[in-house]
Parts: sequence; C-alpha cells; structure tokens
Amino acid sequence: MSTLRFKAISNLSSIASPEVEGSTKITGIFGSNVFTLKVAREYLSDEGYKSLVSSIKAGQKIERAVASQIATGIRAWAETKGVTHFTHWFQPLTGTTAEKHDSFFTLKSDGTPIEQFDGDALIQQEPDASSFPSGGLRATFEARGYTAWDPSSPAFILGIGLGKTLCIPTIFVSYTGESLDYKAPLLKALEALNKHAVDVCNYFDKNVNRVTPTLGWEQEYFVIDEGLFNARPDLVLSGRTVFGHNSAKNQQLEDHYFGSIPERVYAFMRDYEEESYKLGIPLRTRHNEVAPAQFECAPIFEEVNLAVDHNTLLMDIMSRVASRHGLRVLLHEKPFAGINGSGKHNNWSMATDTGVNLLAPGKTPKSNLMFLTFFVNSIKAVHDYADVLRASIASAPNDFRLGANEAPPAIISVFIGQYLTKVLQDVKERVSQKMDEQDESMLKIDIHKSIPELLMDNTDRNRTSPFAFTGNKFEFRAVGSSANCANPMTVLNTIMAETLKNFKKEVDTLIDKGEKKEIAIMHVIREYIVSSEKVLFEGDGYSEEWEREAKKRGLPNVKTTPLALDAMITDKAKQLFESNNVYNHLELEARHEIELEKYIKKVQIESRVMGELATSHILPAAIRYQNLLANNIKGLKDAGLPESGYANQKQILEKISEHINKAADFVEKMIEARKICNAMDDTRTKAIGYQSQVKDAYFDQIRYHVDKLELLVDDKEWYLPKYREMLFLR
Ligand code: ADP
Ligand code: MG
Repeated sequence: MSTLRFKAISNLSSIASPEVEGSTKITGIFGSNVFTLKVAREYLSDEGYKSLVSSIKAGQKIERAVASQIATGIRAWAETKGVTHFTHWFQPLTGTTAEKHDSFFTLKSDGTPIEQFDGDALIQQEPDASSFPSGGLRATFEARGYTAWDPSSPAFILGIGLGKTLCIPTIFVSYTGESLDYKAPLLKALEALNKHAVDVCNYFDKNVNRVTPTLGWEQEYFVIDEGLFNARPDLVLSGRTVFGHNSAKNQQLEDHYFGSIPERVYAFMRDYEEESYKLGIPLRTRHNEVAPAQFECAPIFEEVNLAVDHNTLLMDIMSRVASRHGLRVLLHEKPFAGINGSGKHNNWSMATDTGVNLLAPGKTPKSNLMFLTFFVNSIKAVHDYADVLRASIASAPNDFRLGANEAPPAIISVFIGQYLTKVLQDVKERVSQKMDEQDESMLKIDIHKSIPELLMDNTDRNRTSPFAFTGNKFEFRAVGSSANCANPMTVLNTIMAETLKNFKKEVDTLIDKGEKKEIAIMHVIREYIVSSEKVLFEGDGYSEEWEREAKKRGLPNVKTTPLALDAMITDKAKQLFESNNVYNHLELEARHEIELEKYIKKVQIESRVMGELATSHILPAAIRYQNLLANNIKGLKDAGLPESGYANQKQILEKISEHINKAADFVEKMIEARKICNAMDDTRTKAIGYQSQVKDAYFDQIRYHVDKLELLVDDKEWYLPKYREMLFLR
C-alpha cells in the first residue's frame, strides 16, 4: 500500500493527456446526439411531429398510435448514428442516474431476427428496480415501479466506450402513481407554477398563456490525479478525505483563482465539453475556483426540466471522461477540510411565452409593477417556507459545507441590493388605505425611476447570501455540488406557485370590494413586504453577528440534516405539496424516510472508513516510527549519553505515543457508539444518533490526532497521499 502513494507520485510526470479532437466550431457539433425538433421534423410524419411539439410546448398527451410512429422515427435516426440499444434514462432517489439497456434486436414469432422499437417500448418500461429506494412506497402499494417517457426532454445518444445507446428521459413511478424519482415531482411543480404564474401575469398582460421557470446552474468540482485518488480509500469509498493535514500552502494566496487552468485539466475540460455539446448541453463558462484544484463550469440557462437533466447528465459525463485522462472528478461538497467546498448555484427565474423574464426589471412603469409583483412574491415564498427550502438542500455532505469556511450559512435569507431595498421601502411608506389613483400612478412612476433598467450591471454583489437577487434572477447558492437540482427546484417552484395563488386570492378579494386592480395589487405587495422583510439581509452572511441577529429575528438556523428534514413532513409542508399536487403525504413521508436513510448510510460509511484507515493505515505506520524512536533512545541511553542527548527524540516519542493512544481510544469508542445507533429502530432517532453520537462526537477528535501524526511520522512511512500532493501536484 505504501508504494501506491509513491508510485502515483512518480507516475505523475509521465502521464500524457489523450488527444482531444476539439471542434473548431461548437455550432457544428452542438446537439448532434440529440433528437431535436429539427431532427424530428426530418424523421417524423406531420402527425407525429405536431403531436410531439404540442406535448413539449403545452404538455399535451401523445396517443399510443402516434407514439409508435415517433418511436420508429427515433430509431431510424438513432440507427444512422450506429445505435443498437435503447434505455429508459431516469433519476432515482439514490442521487445518480439509472439505465437498463435493451437492444432494438428481437425475434419474430417465426424466429426471424428484426430491429424494432415500438410505441410501447418508448412510452413505458418496467425496469427491475426493486433495489432503488422507495421509502416503503412500493411495498405499500405495488411491488413494482415503471418508467414513463417524458417527451418534454429530448431523447439523446450516449456513447459509452465504443457502444452507443439511445436514452429516453423518463419519470419513475409506482403502479399506483406515486413518484419514485426526482423528475416526476419536478414536472408537477413546474405545472403548478405555470398555472398560478399565468393567472398573476394576466393582471398585466392577457396574452400570457404559459410561464416556464428557468435554471442556470453553476457546477463546482475538484479534479485530482487518479493514481493519488486510488491511494486514498476514503476518497474512493466516501468521496471525501476523512484525514489529511492542511498543506503548508493552501488557498491563502488566492493564486489559483486568478491562475491559468493547468494543462491536464484543460485537456479534460475540452474533452467533456465536447461530449456535452454533442448532447445539447449549452456550456458557456469554465474557470478555476478559489481552492487549489477546484474548478467551475456553467451553461446558458434553460427551461428547468431540461437544465436539471443536463446537469445530471453532465455530472455523469465528467466522471466518465475524467478516467480517460487519468483524473478523477470530486463532486463531493467538501472533499478537503480547511479549504473551500463545492456548491452548485441555482440561478432561477421565470419566463413567459410572450418572451418576458418575470424577474427582470421592465421598460415601462406597468411592466415594472409586474416585475415587482413577482419579485416580492419570491421573497414572500422564501420567507414563508424557508424551512422547506432548507430541507431541500439538506444532505450529509452538504452539512460539511453549510456554515463552514466560505459557504452560505444554514440560515435562509434573501439579498436584494440597495436599489430594490429602497423601492420596497418606498412602497411600504407610500401605499396606504386612502391611496387614490393619482398616488398610485405617482408611486408607479417613482418605482420605475428607482430601478435602473440594466439592474444586472448595477446590482451590488453579495457573495455570502444563500439566496441573492442578481439583477434578473435569484441565485440559490446553498445547493450542494453533488445534489440533483430537481429537489430544490421542485420546492422553489412549489412555494412560488403557492404564494402566487394566495396573492391572486387576496388581490381578487380587494377588487371584489371595489378597489382598482393596480391599487389592489400594491396593497397586497405592501402587505407581503411587511410580513416577509425579516428574511432580507444585506450584510455578511458568514459572520457570527448574523447568526445572532438571525436568531433575534426568529429565522430558523438548522445546522444538521436529520433535523432540517423535519420540515418535509410538517402539516404546513403536507398542505403545501398536496394542494399543489406535487406530493401526497405518503410520498412526503417516504421521501423523508429515504433522505434520513441516505444520511445514516453516508455517515456510517465515513465512520467505517475512518476506523479502518486509522487502524490499518495510520496506526501501524505510527507504531513503527514509535519503535524506531524508542530503540534509538534506548541505544543512546545504553551508550551512556545523558538525558539531554536524546531529549528531542523523547519529546517526539511522547507526542506520538499520546496521539496513537488517543486516536485508538476514540476509534474504539466510535465503534461502540455505532453499535448503539445501529440498534435504534426509529429512522429519525437513528439519524440524529449518527449525527450527534458518531459524527459530532468523534470525527473531528480522531482526525485531530491522526493529522498530528501525519506531521510527526516519517514521510516515507505515510501511506496516504497528502493534501499538498493531491492539490498541488500536476
Ligand atoms: P455570475 O456572476 O454568478 O457568474 P452570470 O450572469 O454569469 O452570473 O450567470 C450565471 C448563471 O445564471 C448562468 O448559468 C446563466 O445562464 C444563468 N442565468 C442568467 N439569466 C438567467 C435567467 N433568466 N434564468 C435562469 N438563469 C439565468
Ligand atoms: Mg453565480
């Protein structure tokens, strides 16, 4: 094992990146592996094409007979690309993507071999999915689950090695209709948002028929050498280094952020970008991040459902492509202690079918009132459902990030910048019971004047806010780098739908009482500003003062996943999700259970890895060195040297012995604590047990002593690649 570290290090200089083709023009390959509408036009009959389009644009159902035509068209296209197999591609709650490949090849009843892909195979498939987490749902209802085609996300071809597979994006549901994946509830949330946002839009513009939420994610990740990765069992098994002393040089110089992208990583980036472009993922930016070996990429924003699919697909592609380059991508939220973690900022807005971004300031006083309506409703939604939003990003790995070093705190607050703060203040002061039409139009004009037209360029940026307005969109920054964006997007769009629904109710009530429409709208906006302003915060979100201040304001600050998840199953949450047809209470309870179980398993794995590494990697090396020192001291003593002649060695020996004893002792105790937790029946209690009795009680303690040993023990005896090697060697 010890040789693995040194072998990896000495191999580094001889690793060459594979040739990356690199197209000169991205437009030449963009979407070439996607069944786009343009391709559909070519391969489908008029009927098939029209049916597909109205399904995508207006959510209309596709008839079975038409689906068969579409399937035939898709197969014909796929075969021109050398595809032999197809799969329903879905996003189970394990957090990765799932595929089960079937070939087009089949035998007719007389044994004639043919290639076939019929409507049934396109629309529905029954994967043998009994081992995907279901939180007891499938057991309660039906033993099986099935996948069903989502026509709103286009089919694509994934090249795996030399094989090519046609992937059909699908939802995954139980036979009684309960969602078993991330996509099904997301589609429902998007539909709820559409309905209520259109209703509110129609106050301002009767031509709006559809509102589509948009998402632009920013994916942060680390890249390290594969040889070094393989010599770290903790990275291999848990995605995180459970031990490792800080490197003498870290991110303090911030030279990585401004530096050029290292050559090997650059080749890797170009390679995965090429793959992504072929799949229609519109990647736009790539750059170094603050931490050494940390990078980021971001696409042009898209409609949420597509953006989510593209992000999950990208994470998969990155991992596959990295191994071609002898590299590993770390998507974990906190792979290295002491330096920045990785997030996945979710830039979110809503667009109308008339081409308006509802979170972009308008060009006229009237359109700015529409902007203000959606803007204030967003704040109100986050205020009212901060706990549910917090739950949507809760996970074991994200717990290492939220509230740590550079990351947003576990307190959900909203940053809006100076201009909009002033606008809200104005509305608060000037909207009153006796407001008349003249006051109203004056205010509208003043609001219009206070909002710079190109707010995007004028907003002050606050990098420490978990939910920041950035000129024409909100940026939800607390999402973890390894998360599926579907979950936070489901929640965000549902709470927005709910808030808009209530907004309309209140405005209509005032109108019914004889109030003029725009005055009624201003009244409700004012009411929303007053009732939600405590969630607004412009200062440093990472500071301790903010924690104290937030507490005074009564904002929730739940730091651990097991407790944060409670918000999923409150009566308030059940009411929210049921009334918007996103989850029924059984689905919520099932998901709650699944998330808790995921948490337990992750902490359990890390704890085991820690115990194993300490006992089989760290302590043997430390003990060997301890012996060496002991023998040395004994020798010097025997040779008649006075105590001062071996005082240094003795001091080191004492330190080493202390750290060995402490580390070994804590490992023993941690194992005992695990046994106690494992005997717990209730999942929530067990998760809290793992969090407080295993993780919080021992992880840092064990790590402290092991990291001290790393500094003391002879470098050539140390088995695990060190931080400086993983982060700085190229
Ligand atoms: P930053 O300063 O945070 O890098 P950018 O303007 O580069 O901000 O945008 C970051 C992300 O926000 C990109 O993925 C971009 O596509 C996305 N974005 C821009 N406008 C919207 C929008 N209306 N809806 C959703 N995402 C958007
Ligand atoms: Mg950003």
